[in-house]
Parts: sequence; structure tokens; C-alpha cells
Amino acid sequence: MESALTARDRVGVQDFVLLENYNSEAAFIENLRRRFRENLIYTYIGSVLVSVNPYKELEIYSKPQMDRYRGVSFYEISPHIYALSDNTYRAMRTERKDQCILISGESGAGKTEASKKILLYYAVTCPTNDRMAALGDRLLQSNPVLEAFGNAKTLRNDNSSRFGKYMDVQFDFRGAPVGGHILNYLLEKSRVVHQNHGERNFHIFYQLLDGGDDDLLNTLNLERNPQNYRYLVKGNCPRVSSISDKNNWKVVMKALPVIGFTEEEKLLNIIASVLHLGNTQFGEAEEGETYITTEISNLAKLLGVDGSALREALTHKKLTAKGEEMITPLNFEQAESARDALAKTVYGRAFTWLVEKINQSLALKVHSKGSSVIGLLDIYGFEVLQHNSFEQFCINYCNEKLQQLFIELTLRSEQEEYETEGIAWEPVQYFDNKIICDLIEEKHKGIISILDEECLRPGETCDVSFLEKLEGTVGGHPHFVTHKLANGKTRRVMSREEFRLLHYAGEVNYNVTGKLFNTFLVMCQSDNQILSHCFRREEVIDQKRPEMAATQFKNSLMKLMEILSSKEPSYVRCIKPNDAKQPGKFDEVLVRHQVKYLGLMENLRVRRAGFAYRRRFEAFLQRYKPLCPETWPNWHGRLVDGVLTLVKHLGYKDEEYKLGRSKIFIRFPKTLFSTEDALEAK
Ligand code: ADP
Ligand code: MG
Repeated sequence: MESALTARDRVGVQDFVLLENYNSEAAFIENLRRRFRENLIYTYIGSVLVSVNPYKELEIYSKPQMDRYRGVSFYEISPHIYALSDNTYRAMRTERKDQCILISGESGAGKTEASKKILLYYAVTCPTNDRMAALGDRLLQSNPVLEAFGNAKTLRNDNSSRFGKYMDVQFDFRGAPVGGHILNYLLEKSRVVHQNHGERNFHIFYQLLDGGDDDLLNTLNLERNPQNYRYLVKGNCPRVSSISDKNNWKVVMKALPVIGFTEEEKLLNIIASVLHLGNTQFGEAEEGETYITTEISNLAKLLGVDGSALREALTHKKLTAKGEEMITPLNFEQAESARDALAKTVYGRAFTWLVEKINQSLALKVHSKGSSVIGLLDIYGFEVLQHNSFEQFCINYCNEKLQQLFIELTLRSEQEEYETEGIAWEPVQYFDNKIICDLIEEKHKGIISILDEECLRPGETCDVSFLEKLEGTVGGHPHFVTHKLANGKTRRVMSREEFRLLHYAGEVNYNVTGKLFNTFLVMCQSDNQILSHCFRREEVIDQKRPEMAATQFKNSLMKLMEILSSKEPSYVRCIKPNDAKQPGKFDEVLVRHQVKYLGLMENLRVRRAGFAYRRRFEAFLQRYKPLCPETWPNWHGRLVDGVLTLVKHLGYKDEEYKLGRSKIFIRFPKTLFSTEDALEAK
């Protein structure tokens, strides 16, 4: 039989805290690689679960597997997403405290799959009655709908979620799921009007064209071929081999009634109107004025607005200067941007409306007695593209905040455990990214405040003057660089229209061009009830400033941080093993990159600072009592004395371990390994 030691050589350690050299990134990655080769995609860092996308179906998610993990403590069994799900559930039940599971990782790393597995685990293993079963059904059915509208094929993932999602699942006093609620973040609206080569728009457009019957397409005045729509041709990728748009259309249409949906027709009008908007074209008159050259009445009908008002809104802008309204024509380029902006806003707001509808059907009970929740956060990780705009800025800011929360909570829980166990705290060296969060979000002098002030001027581009203002305000900050400030000091050339942030995970250059338009008013008048709900007049009238997306996002992020920090967190860190979406391939450079972006080494350092291993006295005694005649077959005295007798017999030196109130702490992995080996040899 294989000895424990050689097994470790082959399959690595199942908890990174047991790595001999916990400061070595190479050892960390080698451990991941070994386990990945053996199809062991899960590994712990203490209570954090690290997961590597296998890109193939593994036989580890069946019902019998679920049963294996029920009620079993974390360390007694191999690492698994079910172990984390089950421990979180039990912590909620026994401690009566809300929990949250934070799932992070870059696109394609397996975040959404992980969150689905967690939901499935609860749907299958939690107690239910008929009403609850219906809720479980709605929870699961809401997924294909959200994915149709919020996911797209990208180069990195054929089914990439292009929005962040936080979902609360509420459990009643008996532990049965009874309600749910979803918060959506940062839908990637730019995808509605533009896709990079090899990528697609949101799935729903292709599903409708492929799956909708002839009558429906006729009513919407749509042709079946996606290549006829300018918003669908940019990526030159109408079909994806791994996706059946026709089948998915059926799945979505079946799911809509389950989640209590009756406004199907209005929603489809909106989807069709976006496609027609994309095909709306402009011509230039002699005086630089612009007019619409394509048929617009059908578009207006789908949007439920007056044709001439729409025409006006797409070719003119309204400025308010010194209390007076001025109407000026848009030039060709501006008109195209106004059209695209309208398409993005319409789609984005319809998406938010859809999430609201789903929430109504999941019906979180606000005052349900004795209930508690488990929150699931599935939000994309740190993003660095060729061209990084406001969207990436928000995503990366979000990740800075999550990293901060993570460090804070991990340190706090470590400290608390030392305290409750009565063991002296040993300070840990780590990088605190608060300095970067402040740079972004500080009142009056952070980047977001400045961005908002600059966007005060309606209709103008907030580019160069914004940069100058930034240089004036945060120019001296160690994590901020512009072309002027860089002064030949950095390797990469910077343009005059970008600034660079040195994030905790690496450098990113952001472009700063953006425009504002006035197509809002016309949409307030829509007689499509979804749209009139999405575009409210009050918003225009109350709004002293144009929409301040940055501050809005900052506020929603603050709220999210509040939600998360009021709960007991667990973490899933997802890693993508290769860019080719292939099983069995482990690209070391790519993995190293993610280990860095996810802050895993920092995580391990904090966790390993004092002790590699800790275990409750009874568990430790139970496992190792055969190794000592005085504890075998049973120890009858106090647990702590039993453990002490045992470790003295095993020859542990004083500096190798400490006894807390209920747990033994072991400093080095090798101490534990030699004990394990002794057990194996027996
Ligand atoms: P993310 O949400 O992080 O962008 P996804 O969860 O959508 O990534 O995963 C991308 C793809 O990887 C999935 O469509 C699936 O094919 C594969 N995948 C992810 N996790 C697993 C898993 N645990 N087992 C099998 N395949 C997986
Ligand atoms: Mg996803």
C-alpha cells in the first residue's frame, strides 16, 4: 500500500497550510498542479476553498456524494464545494447567524458553476414541503432566464456572466429554503452595441431569432438571420458549437411562467427594438445637421413612443444653460452615439426590471421569525483588457473592496480564534490595500468624486480636463500614474487620454472618454409598461445633475460591503487552468497570475502566520489515540490532559504546539505529518 508520505508526493496536500514552505509560490502552484492532474480540483487554505476548473464533467456531484458531506466536519473528508455548502448551512443553523459565500475568480474560472452547485446542494438536501419545493424550483428556474439576458459568449467563456450577482437564500426556522432575493451589479451594457471579434451579444437575441416561431418574428418585424443586425455582426460569430440557441429559447420560455412572468410580449418588444435601433442609420445634411435615413415607425411602435419625438431625440440635444433650454442638432457621430447610448440604457434597464420581477416571485420574507439567510456572491474578478474603460474601472474597484473585506475578516477571525482559545496573538505582515480604495472613493478628493464633478457639464466629453484635474488632486499618490507623471519611468507607453492605477493585483490603464445624451425624456413617455416603469419622469425632474454612474456604483458597493460584513463569510476562489477551455491542461503562467490576483499567497501567509494546523481536542484525540498506550482505547480524564499526554508521548517539543481552551495548535506541518505517518505505519 502507498504510504501517506508518497501519497502526499503524488496528490499534494489537501490544505495549503500544510505546505512545508508556505512562502513559496512555486510550492503552492506545484501542489495545485499535482492535485489537478489527479482530478482533485478542490484544495483548502484553512477554511477557504480553492477550485480549479476541470473543463470536464467529474463524477463528484451526485446525490450519494451530497450525502457523504452532510453533517461531516470540514477536515474529516476531502475538500469539496459540498463540504463548504454544508458547513455554511450548519453554521447558520447552529449559530443562528447569517452567512455568505463569496465566489471570486476571473472569467471562465467556474464561479457560476460553483454557485449553481451550492444552490443545487441546498435544493436537494434541505428539508422541504410542497410550498418550499416550488421555491426551490423558482430559484433554479430563474437561472436560465438570467443567463439568457445577462450572459454571452466571450473568448474566455462560452457562457460568460456579464453581470455581478448577489443572491440571498432565506431559510425558515426549520432550515427549509423559503425565499430569495437577487441584487445585480454592473451589467456590461457596452456589449449591446459592440462585441469583440469571436464574441457575441447577449444570448437572448440569438435565442429569439433562432427559436421564435414565424408568427412571432413577423409581429416583431424581425428576420431570422442574425447577420442582418448590426448589433449582432461585430464579433462575426453568430453560432457557438457548445450552445443550442433554439433549445435554450424553449428552456427560457418554459421558465418564464414558473417565475410568475406574464409580460413576455412587452419584454420581447424591447429585445426586438434594440435590434432595430442598431439598424437605424443617419445621413448628414449640409449644415452638419443629421437626419435618419431608415424607417423608424416600426421601431417607435416597439418602443411604444411617438415617432417624431424619437426622431428628434436621436438627432438633437437639449441643453439647459442659465435656466434656458436650447435645442441643438447633433452631428453624425454624435447621433450614432446617442442611438447606441439609448440601446444600452433600454437593455440595461429592462434587465434590472427582469431581476425585480424574479425577486417578486422569490418573495423574500422580510419579517419571517427565526429565519436566516445564506448570501451567494458571484462577481467577476479583476479584469485587465486591451482597452479598459469605466466598466473595468468599476469591476476592479469592486475587487479592491472585496480584497479589503477579505483581509479584514480573515485577520479578524484569526485574531478572535486566538483570543477565545487564550493564545497570544502574533502579528502578521500583509499588504493593506486600503490606500488604493481611498484613492478611488475618498470624499471630495477621490477619483470618483472628481469624475462626478467633471460630468456635471452636460453633453461634454469628460476626458482631458478630467485627467488634468486628477493630476492636480491625486497626482502625488503612489498608486496613480498618468502620461505626464510617468515621465518615462514606466515600461509601457501611456497615451494622453488614460490614467494608470497600481491595483493590489497589478497595473491597469484606464481610458477616460465618455459622453452623455438626452434620449431619456422620450422614453419616459413610452406606453410599453416595462419601459415606462424603467424610465421615470421624476428621475429627470429631480435630477439636478446628469446620471452619476460612478457615485451610484460606489453607493451600491458600499451597501454590498455592509451586507457582506454583517454576515459570516466563506470563500471560494476559482482558478482557470488554461485559456483553451481544455481538460487536463495546466498553464503554469496563467495559474500563477491568478494566484497573485486572488491574493492567495497573502491569504496563506495570514492563515499560516502562527500555526499550520488546529484541531479540537476531541477530534485530535479520537484520531491519534492509538499511538499512545495511556490514551488507548479510551481516555477518561479531561480532554486537554489526554491531548497533553498524547503529544508528550509522541515527543512534541514545546515550541511545536500550543494548547488553547478547546483546540490544539500545531506550528509546523512536519510535526503533524510524522504523527500521520506513525498512524499509517501502525
Ligand atoms: P465563470 O462564471 O467564472 O466565468 P463558469 O462557471 O461559467 O465561469 O464556467 C465556465 C465553464 O467551465 C462552464 O460552462 C463549464 O463548461 C466549465 N466548468 C466550470 N466549473 C466546472 C466544474 N466544476 N465541473 C465541470 N465543468 C466546469
Ligand atoms: Mg459566471
